[in-house]
Amino acid sequence: MKIKLDRTLCAGFGICAKHAPEHFPLDDWGYASLAGAPVIAPTDQPAITRALLDCPVHAITTVPDRGHPGVTSGPSGADIIQQ
Ligand code: SF4
Repeated sequence: MKIKLDRTLCAGFGICAKHAPEHFPLDDWGYASLAGAPVIAPTDQPAITRALLDCPVHAITTVPDRGHPGVTSGPSGADIIQQ
């Protein structure tokens, strides 16, 4: 699972930081940034998926993970294995 955060869409609700604070630190005004690598470890994927689904402005999205041929991420954040 690989994600991106569009900071131009972020409205500073802070929901993502509640679900995954280590990945979405908030600045002094409450706007999120993406910390660390955009490729998410399997153990962190449930929290990231919750943040993705709960973001009211859909600023967090999945992007194809080109590091693993045949594996992409679906809209729910779940990996889709292409055969
Ligand atoms: S939940 Fe969405 S709008 Fe709220 S801080 Fe996170 S990215 Fe920004």
